Amino acid sequence: MVALDGPSGTGKTTVARRLAERLGAGYLDSGAMYRVVTLAVLRAGADPDDAARVTEIAGETVFTIGTSPDSPLVTLGTEDVTAAIRGNDINQTVSAVSAIPDVRRLLIDRQRTIITEVLAETGGVVVEGRDIGTVVAPDAPLKIYLTASAEIRAARRSAQDSAAGRESTPADALASVNRRDHLDSSRATSPLRPAEDAVHVDTSELSIDQVIVALAELAGR
Ligand code: C5P
Repeated sequence: MVALDGPSGTGKTTVARRLAERLGAGYLDSGAMYRVVTLAVLRAGADPDDAARVTEIAGETVFTIGTSPDSPLVTLGTEDVTAAIRGNDINQTVSAVSAIPDVRRLLIDRQRTIITEVLAETGGVVVEGRDIGTVVAPDAPLKIYLTASAEIRAARRSAQDSAAGRESTPADALASVNRRDHLDSSRATSPLRPAEDAVHVDTSELSIDQVIVALAELAGR
């Protein structure tokens, strides 16, 4: 198992999926879980700061997170929400939802169950998030902490938004990634931080291919 943590815009998702493909492993995007619960909260018209109500919604929401690295489908009920969970409304609200300790407990249990299932099926799994190496799977044999400069992260996020047809300037994207990183790093429960034994990889000056080669080497492949 590979635990891949780091702030937004470091290329985590692309790297995690490509690495999983290369290793013949499964893939789990833990952030997609916080996003799908956030979508359910917004659709219910609930206040994202109402911890009791949000926890109730997290417990009731029926969703699936695909673990195939080439097409990780996310569903809410029977609806494909793979694209909908990447919207700006979700980016704005997801940190408030993910700061609620009971929501984290529920989703971390589910993450551990999926990791066990995928490991049994494929023998390997690459899991991306913020607290995988510190909280979800502290025994993971390989922990990576991806970083990149704020400007590079903002430029990547802006390019991703534009590719998905969402208006976003690098300045907007910079404000948005800085805000989310600040909230994710300062919350009381499992804040974003590297595990002590994580290998830090700065992706600012590296192509995706270079990052994959470096990580596959660390994974012994
Ligand atoms: O990785 P992604 O940007 O999709 O994550 C969305 C949000 O979900 C993060 O900003 C963070 O608030 C939350 N998250 C988390 N713990 C994780 C993964 C994501 O709190 N393991």
